[in-house]
Amino acid sequence: MTVTQNTKTLEEARHMAEVRKDEFYDYLRLESVSTEHKQIPETVAYVKDLIEQTGGEVKVLDDLGGHPVIYGYFPASSSGNSDRTLLFYNHYDVQPADPLDEWHTEPFEPTVRDNTLYARGVSDNKANFMARLNALSILKESNDGFPCNVKFLLEGEEEIGSPNLGLYIEKYADLFQADACIWEAGSKDKYENYIVSAGMKGIAYFDLEVTTAAIDIHSSIAAIADNPAWRLIHALSSMKNEKNEIVVEGFYDGIAPLSKKDKEAAANQPFKAEEVKAQYGLTGKFITEGTDVTPAEALAYSPTMTVCGFSSGYTGPGIKTVLPKNAKAKLDCRLVPGQNPKHVRDSLRQHLDDHGYGDISLTMVAAEGAQRTSLEDPFIETVVNSAKKVYGDENPVIVSPSMAGTGPSELFEKYLHLPIAGVGAGWAYSGAHAPNENIRLADFYQNIAHMVELIKVFGVEKN
Ligand SMILES: [Zn+2]
Repeated sequence: MTVTQNTKTLEEARHMAEVRKDEFYDYLRLESVSTEHKQIPETVAYVKDLIEQTGGEVKVLDDLGGHPVIYGYFPASSSGNSDRTLLFYNHYDVQPADPLDEWHTEPFEPTVRDNTLYARGVSDNKANFMARLNALSILKESNDGFPCNVKFLLEGEEEIGSPNLGLYIEKYADLFQADACIWEAGSKDKYENYIVSAGMKGIAYFDLEVTTAAIDIHSSIAAIADNPAWRLIHALSSMKNEKNEIVVEGFYDGIAPLSKKDKEAAANQPFKAEEVKAQYGLTGKFITEGTDVTPAEALAYSPTMTVCGFSSGYTGPGIKTVLPKNAKAKLDCRLVPGQNPKHVRDSLRQHLDDHGYGDISLTMVAAEGAQRTSLEDPFIETVVNSAKKVYGDENPVIVSPSMAGTGPSELFEKYLHLPIAGVGAGWAYSGAHAPNENIRLADFYQNIAHMVELIKVFGVEKN
C-alpha cells in the first residue's frame, strides 16, 4: 500500500460492498440472457428496486420496442452542485452461459473462490453497475450527500448489438442530458494498469456472394465457364493492395488526422511487440513494419478490412475436380471516428460495380459507428486524476484512446453530445462472454472507491 492511496474511501467501499452483498448476488442470480429474452421483466423490476433502494427515482421506458430502457436519477443534495450531471451507462443483459460443462461452478450462482467472484455477467457488466450504486450509497451516508446530479441509463440489449437503443436516446435525449458519461465496462490490463478508455472502434460487417452457374460443374468446363471463386478473389484483392492499403475510393472519408496528444497516448500504451507475437503465435512481422504508423497507433486509430471467411467448392480430403457454382466471403471493417458504416457500404458497392463485379452481392449484416472522446477533453483528466487517488502507484492509470470492442457509444455522442470514458472492475482474465467469468473482489472495492472520488471531483467542477 502506498501513501497516495485513499485508504479511507477504500475501507468505506469494502464495508458498503459487504452491506449490499445479498442484493448484488441476487442480481447476479437473474438469468438476463438477452438473446434468449430470459427473465427480462424480472430483471427490470429488480434493477428498478436497486436504484430506489439507493435513493434514486426510476422511469422504465418501453414504448419504442425491444427490452425496456431504464432511467435512474439521483438529484444533487442541497450542498451539492445541481448544475453538473454525470451519466452512467450500463446494461442489465448478459451473454448466454454456454458451454456449461466448462464452468467450474453454476454460472448463475455467484461463487467466491480465492477472493474472486464467479458468475455470468459479473464483469460484463453487473459488478460495474453495483459498484456505482455502492458509491452512491456511501455518498448518501456522508455529511455532504450527493455532490452532483447522477443519472443512469440501463439497456437490456447491449449483448445483441443494441438494436433499439438509438430510438430511445433520440426520443429521450432531454431526459438523459448530462455533462459527461461513464461507460459500462473497463478493466485492469495484464500488467495491472488501470485502464481509462476514451473510445471504441466501429464495425461494418458484410456478406459477399457470387453465383455463376445453376449447378456445380465438371471442372473441364472451366475452359469456357467462369469460376466464381476466382471472381470473388479478384474482387476482394482489388480492395486492398499488398501494402495493406485499402484502395476502395471513399473508404477513408471523414477521418481526422491524429493530434500530437493522440500519438503520445499511443506511445504510452504498454504494448510489447514480442509478447503479442508470442501470444498469437504470429509467424510473420507486423503489417505496420516499414510504414510510418506504429503497432500501438494502428491498434488504436487505423481502420481495417479483414476477410473473416471464404467458402467455395470442395474442401474435403482427396480430390474432387469441380467447378463450383458459387462463392461466398465474409468481410469485416473496423471503423474509426468520422467513418460512416453506410457510406463505407456504398463505397464498397460502387467499387465492385466500377470494377466489373456488379454480379457480386454485398449485404451489410452489422453496423456500428466509432466514437472517441478527445484526449484534450477535461473529463478524461478528471477520470484519470480521481482514479489516481485510489489506485496509487501499484496500478498506474493509463488512458487507452480506443478499446478493442465495439459498443453503442456513438449514439451517446450523437444525441447527448458529451464526453465518454470507460472504467470498471474487471481484470485481464475476467473472461467476459466466456466460461468462469469473474472479477477479483479487491478490484471491485477499488472501483467503488474510484466512483466515490470521481463523483466528488465531478461535483465541484464548473461547466
Ligand atoms: Zn458484453
